[in-house]
Amino acid sequence: HDAIAENTPQSDYQLEADIAKTRAFTLISDLGEALRKDEGLYLVYQPKIELRTRKVVGAEALIRWKHPVLGNVSPAQFIPLAENTTLIRPLTDWVIDNVARQINRWKKKNLFMSVSINITANNLSEGDFAERLMSTLQDYQLTAADIEIECLETQKILESNVALSSIAMLKRLGFLISLDDFGSGYSNLTYLNKIPIDIIKIDKSLIDNINKDTNSRVIIKSLISMLHKLHYVVLAEGVEDQKTIDYLVSLGCDQVQGYHLSRPLMPAEFARWCENHDIP
Ligand code: C2E
Ligand code: MG
Ligand code: MG
Ligand code: MG
Repeated sequence: HDAIAENTPQSDYQLEADIAKTRAFTLISDLGEALRKDEGLYLVYQPKIELRTRKVVGAEALIRWKHPVLGNVSPAQFIPLAENTTLIRPLTDWVIDNVARQINRWKKKNLFMSVSINITANNLSEGDFAERLMSTLQDYQLTAADIEIECLETQKILESNVALSSIAMLKRLGFLISLDDFGSGYSNLTYLNKIPIDIIKIDKSLIDNINKDTNSRVIIKSLISMLHKLHYVVLAEGVEDQKTIDYLVSLGCDQVQGYHLSRPLMPAEFARWCENHDIP
């Protein structure tokens, strides 16, 4: 070995890359096992609040994974890995099955809650996605009105004709379609015409800037006004303080989600929260 070469930054990067690859490999293989055994995975539910009425209008289901050795692993970490492998299909099936079972249980307790699920481009590229979703809903005596579809990675959806026709099919079947993380990364506005969207979720990164400078407030104001002219329902993601809520109310923003109102909750906590919540 050449000691000098090993100490160059390049070899440090190589080492870091190798560690990241090993970790990714471990996570993928352990996630496959977690899904097969149904161990360590669970869902939490974050309320969506309508600003006009201050009522809960739904919940978003978010997956959690407690790894046997590594502890809690964030979906921000393992979802992209699943999306790049064949695991995204069984993972999404797991989510749909568990969400449907939960809605069914809540209904029996007179809690009627429409729940949104996060769906990736690869999910939509499976030709039978809508069919499988409908069949699970039937198993739990649910309909399309009980579920909302949140589309991630719009760019990738646009590149797949199968994904585009899956969304069109879901829309015809009566599911509400929302576009997640709007305004993050590169946003190409022409896609608004290509996907039948009901709700636009403005990304937290744009919402966070509201408190920072006037330009950002002008951007949000114009964005909401434009989206309303196009007849979309507008939801603001990741609201963490009252000042932001007050500003969003003044702009006529329709719905909000965020830690200031509630973190994602376990099902029992969610049901309790719905009974007792006091929206500021
Ligand atoms: P997302 O769909 O945009 O979900 C919003 C994320 O922001 C969630 O993170 C939520 O816990 C977090 N959040 C909500 N309010 C606040 C707030 O006020 N402040 C801050 N700092 N964060 C807030 P989470 O649960 O870690 O999920 C991250 C991403 O992973 C999600 O972003 C979604 O893209 C993906 N994901 C989560 N669950 C699933 C799933 O079941 N299936 C798929 N395909 N993707 C999922
Ligand atoms: Mg989402
Ligand atoms: Mg989002
Ligand atoms: Mg987001």
